[in-house]
Amino acid sequence: MNDLSNRVVLITGASSGIGEATARELAAAGAKVMIGARRSDRLEALARDLGENVAWARLDVTDRESFVAFVTAAEARFGRVDVLVNNAGVMPLSPLSALLVDQWDWMIDVNIRGVLHGIAAVLPGFQAQGSGHVVNVASTAAYRVFPGAAVYSGTKYAVRAITDGLRMEHTDIRATTISPAATQSELAHTITDPATQKAIEAFRNAGMLGADAVARAIRFAIEQPADVDMSEIIVRPTVSNMS
Ligand code: NDP
Repeated sequence: MNDLSNRVVLITGASSGIGEATARELAAAGAKVMIGARRSDRLEALARDLGENVAWARLDVTDRESFVAFVTAAEARFGRVDVLVNNAGVMPLSPLSALLVDQWDWMIDVNIRGVLHGIAAVLPGFQAQGSGHVVNVASTAAYRVFPGAAVYSGTKYAVRAITDGLRMEHTDIRATTISPAATQSELAHTITDPATQKAIEAFRNAGMLGADAVARAIRFAIEQPADVDMSEIIVRPTVSNMS
C-alpha cells in the first residue's frame, strides 16, 4: 500500500459530511490536506482541530478562477498536489414537473461543472509531474434513477462518465469514482419540494452510512500502489437495500 504521509490531498466540500470525514481520515493517516468550500468559518475550525498538516481556503467550485486559486494556494503551502478529491455536491431533488429549473442549473453547475473545473485546475500539473489521482464522489444515483432524482442522477451519471474518460486518456494519472448510497450528512437540506422532502426522509430513515465509511473507501483508493487504479467503488449500508 502507498504510504499517505506527505502526500498532498485537496478535498472540495470539506465543510461538512463526507468531505469533512475524509479530511479527518486522511489527516489521521499523515497526509497533508487542503480543504475547500464556501463556509470559511467551518473550514477554519476544522483545520484548527486537525493541526498543521491541514490548510484551508474558501472555494466555490462553480467558479473556475476560484478553483485555480485553490490549487495555487495548496501548491504554495505544501509544494505540490498529489490527489484531488472532487466531493462538493448539492442535491435539491424534485420531479421534473415542478419545473425548479434554477435548481437543475445549480446541480449542473456544482456537480458537473465543479468537477470539470477541478480536473482543469490539476491536470496540467499532474501531466508535468507524470502522476496524480482524481477521486470523484458520484453516488449510487450514478447507476440508477429514481422519480424526483432525474437531474441529480443525470449529474452523477456524468461524473462517472467523466471520471472513466479521464482514466482512459492517461496511463500515469489515476481516476476513481466513489459512489455512496444514502449517507449521514447535510445533503438533503437543499430539497425544497415538500413531497420530495417527505419521500427522501423515509428513504434515508431506512438506513444510512456514516460519512466515515465513505472516507475510508476514499482512503483505500488513494492508498493503492501507483500501478493500481481503483476505478469504481460503491459503498452501501448493510441494513438498507433501497439504493
Ligand atoms: P453535505 O451537504 O454535507 O456536503 C456537501 C459539501 O459540498 C459541503 O461541504 C458544501 O460546502 C460543499 N459545496 C456545495 N456547493 C459548493 C460550491 N459551490 N463550492 C464549493 N463547495 C460546495 O453532503 P455530503 O457530504 O453528503 O455530500 C458530499 C458528496 O457526496 C456530494 O457530491 C454528494 O452528491 C455525494 N453523495 C452523498 C450521499 C449522501 O447520501 N449523503 C450519497 C451519495 C453521494 P459549502 O456549503 O460550505 O460550500
